[in-house]
Amino acid sequence: MLALPEGAEYVMQDLKPIPLSALQHYAFCPRQCALIHNEQLWADNWHTAKGNVLHQRVDQGLPETRKGVRYERSVHVHAPQLRLVGQLDLLEVDLASGKFTPVEYKKGRSKTSDWDRIQLCAQAMCLEEMKEIRVDEGALWYWQTRRRECVVFDDALRMQTLIVIEQVATLFDSLRVPRAVYGKHCLACSLIDVCNPLWSRNDKSILYIENLFGEDDEEASE
Ligand code: SF4
Repeated sequence: MLALPEGAEYVMQDLKPIPLSALQHYAFCPRQCALIHNEQLWADNWHTAKGNVLHQRVDQGLPETRKGVRYERSVHVHAPQLRLVGQLDLLEVDLASGKFTPVEYKKGRSKTSDWDRIQLCAQAMCLEEMKEIRVDEGALWYWQTRRRECVVFDDALRMQTLIVIEQVATLFDSLRVPRAVYGKHCLACSLIDVCNPLWSRNDKSILYIENLFGEDDEEASE
């Protein structure tokens, strides 16, 4: 996907589309992403329930126009070349200039990592593919701090986003579930009971299976 030959046609119908949410799941933990999207497992906890409540509030708003800006909520996007599908929380359209600004609502606060920005950039790239336009900026709105953060979609962020999409695509196509890597984040994971990371860390049968099927198999499962 990164080295797209010019004029190439993409036949994506045999490939499972990547939901935009999978990029966040992958950022949190590749194993969680695989459990949700390759194994279709899901469980809610306090964090996911709070996120659901926030998004329900955001999604309920009707489209409206204020001061020359059209506000569209729960905007569906589908970008076959990027292999992405999903929904934008909010799309602002400046009626005078035709400028599109995707806005993503987050329940927490601004982070030092780029993951929220990558998810937003992926939304912008979906809009670009669908509408054949350029989207230069978006915004993240953090519920906890009530702050709106402007995000510029520069070349570096776009490249980072493409790399993550590629990593998630590889995970999807492998149909594998990577081994658990226990960390502090596991305590906030809604799938901790399903994943059982401490148990699988000590489970020597995984090594046995990997030895049985050889080195290639081990690499593919990481
Ligand atoms: S419990 Fe930890 S290792 Fe398991 S899926 Fe969740 S974050 Fe990943």
